[in-house]
Amino acid sequence: SPRSRSKDSLDLRDIFIAIKTTRKYHKSRLQLLAQTWVSKAKEQTFIFTDGKDKELRLKTGLNIINTNCSAAHTRQALCCKMSVEYDKFIESQKKWFCHVDDDNYVILPGLLELLSSYSHTQDVYLGRPSLDHPIEAAERVKSDGSVSVKFWFATGGAGFCISRGLALKMSPWASLGNFITTAEKIRLPDDCTIGYIIEALLEVPLTHTGLFHSHLENLLRLPTNNILKQVTLSYGGFENRRNVVSVGGAFSLAEDPSRFKTVHCLLYPDTDWCPRKTHH
Ligand code: UDP
Ligand code: MN
Repeated sequence: SPRSRSKDSLDLRDIFIAIKTTRKYHKSRLQLLAQTWVSKAKEQTFIFTDGKDKELRLKTGLNIINTNCSAAHTRQALCCKMSVEYDKFIESQKKWFCHVDDDNYVILPGLLELLSSYSHTQDVYLGRPSLDHPIEAAERVKSDGSVSVKFWFATGGAGFCISRGLALKMSPWASLGNFITTAEKIRLPDDCTIGYIIEALLEVPLTHTGLFHSHLENLLRLPTNNILKQVTLSYGGFENRRNVVSVGGAFSLAEDPSRFKTVHCLLYPDTDWCPRKTHH
């Protein structure tokens, strides 16, 4: 019917998904993603790392991009990776750029549904703010000291998405190494720098969404019956191993400490390693 065709339907292939990782997390974190959600979005997911891993490439067949950025957890190294992510997205011709960390589960049907309600040709910056107020940064200026700027930014650990229309406008401050220069101007991390370019320089507001989740929030508080309707999930790191979404099903907490396998089997019960539904 004309109604069902009134909106250009978005395809998963229109989305570029960048995962930021580092060599030491290939085994402990990436394997799990490769086994779960990334296996359903192989063509459009790109892994941005800092070291060679032939085994991972051969075993998983994933798109792995060695950024040649330093493996240090410094602002410079992380911004270096983000700048490569941005350049690869621009090259890709896809409609949407989504960034996630290697401890995120992306609920692909949720992502597709969310992005379908926006136009990639308009200025769209979607994500979860990590603070309940805009960040105030000192912007270094040429002449004397600095001026203060206030802006919202989406927390990188929960994932965020940017439309191609907006990404193209970011080019003077984000492309070909300019991202690193921009980050140095405010001396803030990669995700803050994205917010600075979009909100402070381009004056495009962040669209706040509660559908993206990082382990900075209490994941246990996410209602069980809403988990599959979210867009991203995460799990607590070493300090907070119990901060995981509360979902029961296929695997125990010991078998599936992140709960990602359990979520995956609820979304895709026909997966070969998911327990078969038994009929009595
Ligand atoms: N990461 C990185 N280089 C490092 C350490 C971490 O690229 O030296 C990446 C990591 O793979 C993850 C993100 O940065 O995608 C956030 O790291 P992590 O989850 O360890 O820390 P958080 O900031 O979430 O506490
Ligand atoms: Mn993390």
